Amino acid sequence: MKRTTGQDRSITTQWRAATRAVRGGTWRSEQGETSEALFLNSGYCYDDAETPAARFAGEQPGMTYSRTQNPTVQMLEERIALMEGAEACRVQASGMAAMTAVLLCQLSQGDHMVVARAAFGPTRWVTDNLLPRFGIGVTAVDGRDLDAWKAAIQPNTKVFFYETPANPTMDIVDVAAVSALARAHGIRTVVDNAFATSALQRPLDFGADVVAYSATKLMDGQGRVLAGAVCGSADFINTLLLPFQRNTGPTLSPFNAWVVLKGLETLDLRANHQAASALTVARFLESRVPRLIYPGLPSHPQYDLVQKQMKAAGSIFSFEIEGGRAAAHGVLDALELIDISNNIGDAKSLMTHPASTTHSSLTPQVRAGMGVTEGMLRISVGLEDPDDLIEDLDQALKAAGL
Ligand SMILES: *Cc1c(COP(=O)(O)O)cnc(C)c1O
Repeated sequence: MKRTTGQDRSITTQWRAATRAVRGGTWRSEQGETSEALFLNSGYCYDDAETPAARFAGEQPGMTYSRTQNPTVQMLEERIALMEGAEACRVQASGMAAMTAVLLCQLSQGDHMVVARAAFGPTRWVTDNLLPRFGIGVTAVDGRDLDAWKAAIQPNTKVFFYETPANPTMDIVDVAAVSALARAHGIRTVVDNAFATSALQRPLDFGADVVAYSATKLMDGQGRVLAGAVCGSADFINTLLLPFQRNTGPTLSPFNAWVVLKGLETLDLRANHQAASALTVARFLESRVPRLIYPGLPSHPQYDLVQKQMKAAGSIFSFEIEGGRAAAHGVLDALELIDISNNIGDAKSLMTHPASTTHSSLTPQVRAGMGVTEGMLRISVGLEDPDDLIEDLDQALKAAGL
């Protein structure tokens, strides 16, 4: 295996985003294959007994076992790190494996963290139910409010964690301001960047320390595999994340890594095209529904902040209709093109009712605190012609009497 021509990090870090997504991290075997090879193996063999001894002792580079290293997985890690502008990346079996690992690898009994309350449902389960069982204190705040972050800091606060844009409320967190506050207090900032991806937003450029991903979403982009990733400094990845990951085993399958590698080749194209279509669809819907929350429209209260930290506002947005859950389910049931699905970031446009799906495990109080109402619907805009999506939404709203 050798790196493809010119794959010196000093060169690849100068490549522009679309080039990194296609070329970053590619290694070729002696066969000279064009597309990245799929190494579907768990173990490795050695020419002599000394080789594994040297590798286990950390004295020689090389693979020992696929829980820790695999060539296909490593190509994906190098590519994601390059795209994110991070020194290092480790991928995990799913987005939630990444969120769990990134928190448990650095928090201990007696520590405290602050989480933005508008977050993916299972992430809130981890912060609200799992971490307290191990004596880790958690405070949930309105992520849009810098003073709330400041007020939540305790002497033992170690981590700030948030999504931006957040699911499904589209709250935006000021990455530069919150990161600066954290840094001044010796707190590490972790950003879940699944909704934007590095194609549209790079939190490390604005001072965040760690970026965590569900690569299941836009990175795969075609609804095929689950995957997760954590990016940060080489020191964070190697001294905190890697020991946790290698010993607890939330490892990504080489096959799934290969699928995501191929997905990344089109990420820049897809993310920008889907964001442009989302803007078109949102402009139409805004005139048809009482409330629409898309960070790419001037009606979003944090529009100026979006312009500052995002290249485009992404492919996902939420809107509210009159009539609560019954009406929201009625709209979904009347869709003819857009699928009813709680997934996001797919080439196919998908719609869901968060209160009865992605956020159903939360108490009504927590949901209300986040702003997830019974009449809220969330759409993930895909690669179809936006005019077909608009016609489908229009007929579905009419069919539901709206
Ligand atoms: C989907 C999602 C996750 C969880 O990822 P999985 O790959 O489904 O485990 C975490 N955070 C956000 C923002 C997500 O959209």
